[in-house]
Amino acid sequence: MAETHGRNTQYTTIKARLYPTAEQAVLFEKTFGCCRYLWNQMLADEQRFYSETGTHYIPTPAKYKAGAPFLKEVDSQALIQEHNRLSQAFRVFFRQPERFGYPKFKRKKEGRSSFTACNHEFPSGPTIYLTKEGIRMTKAGVVKAVFPRRPRNGWVLRRITVSKTLTGKYHCSILYEYPVKPIPPVAPTPQRTLGLCRSAAHFYAADNGCLADPPRWLEASQEKLAALQRRLARMVPGSRNYQEGVQKYRLLHEHIANQRRDYIHKESRRIANAWDAVCVRVPGPSEGGVGTGFGQFCTCLGYKLARQGKALVEVGQSTPTSRQCHSCGYLLPEGADYRHARWRCPCCDTLHQREVNAARNIKQAGLRQVLSRQKSA
Ligand SMILES: [Zn+2]
Repeated sequence: MAETHGRNTQYTTIKARLYPTAEQAVLFEKTFGCCRYLWNQMLADEQRFYSETGTHYIPTPAKYKAGAPFLKEVDSQALIQEHNRLSQAFRVFFRQPERFGYPKFKRKKEGRSSFTACNHEFPSGPTIYLTKEGIRMTKAGVVKAVFPRRPRNGWVLRRITVSKTLTGKYHCSILYEYPVKPIPPVAPTPQRTLGLCRSAAHFYAADNGCLADPPRWLEASQEKLAALQRRLARMVPGSRNYQEGVQKYRLLHEHIANQRRDYIHKESRRIANAWDAVCVRVPGPSEGGVGTGFGQFCTCLGYKLARQGKALVEVGQSTPTSRQCHSCGYLLPEGADYRHARWRCPCCDTLHQREVNAARNIKQAGLRQVLSRQKSA
């Protein structure tokens, strides 16, 4: 993953599987726990402070160390990052509440455990660096790791995120910064611009009538997952069979997530190379929000386009893309039943494939946005 930041630097990450010793695994567990504890404490204090004073404020990790001495046992960098993460969660929430939602408390059983630590360059050397066999971290020492690729010359290690899946595997994601030459922006034309609409059945529909079809194996594994879930529902919770079933379910779930990620990366690469600009309507929280597959797809597409000087144009959620006829502009009244796969425009009699029609409207609205920005610039 990479994103454009400013003009002359880009970021990329290397993901690796970690093989901690038993002792290092214990330290990781402690760190996950401390980060979760700190997050919840800071969030509770923010809420209390806000309700009492009406101002937003998050205390720093140092404040909690006296009352919770166990926080001193883990890498203090991870705690600082937890503070940064929560601040960032509030920043995006204040900016776009309808898109990001209010920061939530973390529970041990939900989601993955993770912590992040920044690298610091001291005269004696950096705090985090790769060795031949693994990665050297503060407190943990050298953790054995298998890297799919190594950093290139000139890449600077910025931070590392260590995470553990529900199936008990440890991974790390290492963020690198590297210099790049500025890329001249590509001005989009209608012919070289693609409009995309999120589709339930096809993943996406494009304005040119193309429907994405996620590979059949993805669907097949999803059916397997549903079958496994049904079998689990019939078992006695806590029994040995049940526990084995849960583990099987988690492994398959992880496998599907990997397959989907792979598909998203390949498909976004293909589109980013083929088009000069892409217009999308990012789903809101009521539609699953940015965490959906399509939301991830848009994020991937955004940075892959940006690396080539191209733009991902986001159309506002208030734009009525689904219920407007693309040919004549007729707007179906709000509340009208336009959720069918096909509908006929009562005004100009055009038969629309609903999602393709929406993609055309998204493209048109996106191009209008680009044009008005060019005029005002
Ligand atoms: Zn019409």
